Amino acid sequence: MTKFDYDEEITFNSPAPGHWPEVSASDWNDAKWQLKNRVQTLEELESKLELSEEERAGILLTGTKLAAAVTPHFFNLIDPKDPDCPIRKQVIPRIEETWENPEEMSDPCGEDSHMPVPGLVHRYPDRVLFLVTDRCASYCRYCTRSRVVSGVSDQKLETQWEAAFEYLENTPTVRDVLLSGGDPLLLSDGRLEKILTRLHAIPHIQFIRIGSRIPIFLPQRITPELCDMLKKFHPLFISIHSNHPRELTCEVRDALGRLADAGIPLGNQSVLLKDINDSLDVQRALVHKLLLCRARPYYLYQCDLIDGSAHLRTATSKGVEIIEGLRGHTTGYAVPQFVIDAPGGGGKIPLNPNYVVSDNDSEVHLRNYEGREFLYPEVADLGKALLPSNR
Ligand SMILES: *Cc1c(COP(=O)(O)O)cnc(C)c1O
Repeated sequence: MTKFDYDEEITFNSPAPGHWPEVSASDWNDAKWQLKNRVQTLEELESKLELSEEERAGILLTGTKLAAAVTPHFFNLIDPKDPDCPIRKQVIPRIEETWENPEEMSDPCGEDSHMPVPGLVHRYPDRVLFLVTDRCASYCRYCTRSRVVSGVSDQKLETQWEAAFEYLENTPTVRDVLLSGGDPLLLSDGRLEKILTRLHAIPHIQFIRIGSRIPIFLPQRITPELCDMLKKFHPLFISIHSNHPRELTCEVRDALGRLADAGIPLGNQSVLLKDINDSLDVQRALVHKLLLCRARPYYLYQCDLIDGSAHLRTATSKGVEIIEGLRGHTTGYAVPQFVIDAPGGGGKIPLNPNYVVSDNDSEVHLRNYEGREFLYPEVADLGKALLPSNR
């Protein structure tokens, strides 16, 4: 394969208005219109796509598992002629989601057992994950938090707001708060501002982050007003979630530009998904396009062992192979860290290609990205050689 096999993806397109030819530009650009017109039911889906039996059966079973919903903006990225479309597979349910595998779990990262207060996951000593809503603009079929997200399953997210703020105020070891959910940017500007104001007022909280797929699913939500509000809370970072270069449209690029112009550093988290982005060509196009959008690839996740995800999971070696194909071959800023969020709750564990051929007390034997080998002498030897007793 040549380096630029996927080069056609390094262009920015706008799929609008696509399936909604009658819509006015002002409605299309209104986040409320996008949310109100999400594709959610079997009838709506069938009117726009030819569904397979697996998809039709999958949609009928979403009512008690994880709701189906796709914003018009994101729905237009689906190629109706391609049954294996990488966008389609992320958001259109399939019957395989109801299949059970013994290794799968409803809470694969063991979050529920690490909550000092409902809605607050405190796994690492200095930072917490704060679940501020259970709703998203669209629902990813591999959602690691599907046990509480979308509001259709038996388990509900019951964030104890006052207790959570008090816990943070009384826990000075916490210096970093990550807002997630659900998607925090689905909250109104006013609601979000209240949460950020309360966190910002805690002296030991140095750093706030928001994890959101809204810039990808609903770029219309990234208004100048939202950006003006967010920039009052610096240092504020945002982690977006994009898996495929086609998701980075003109609208998404402009929305990310508005966030970056507000001084918000942007990182991207993607999930390695079978036949969606588990190839070097797709990942290379994705990371290059992210840099054009001023977002730095942050994590590439091995897909969590969430119930009903076997059809979307890949071998861990695939992720390592992708990182090996990027590191050294392209801009260092474009290379994410491949991680596995440890099953049961050990946190994120990095997986890296091995560049150490061998090592001993005096030297380390390395290989570079091209496979050429190099020796690096250890400093201990040098130190010993300089000691008078060694002369
Ligand atoms: C991912 C995660 C964080 C943040 O981890 P970083 O490596 O700092 O991005 C914090 N808490 C929990 C529970 C997480 O899953």
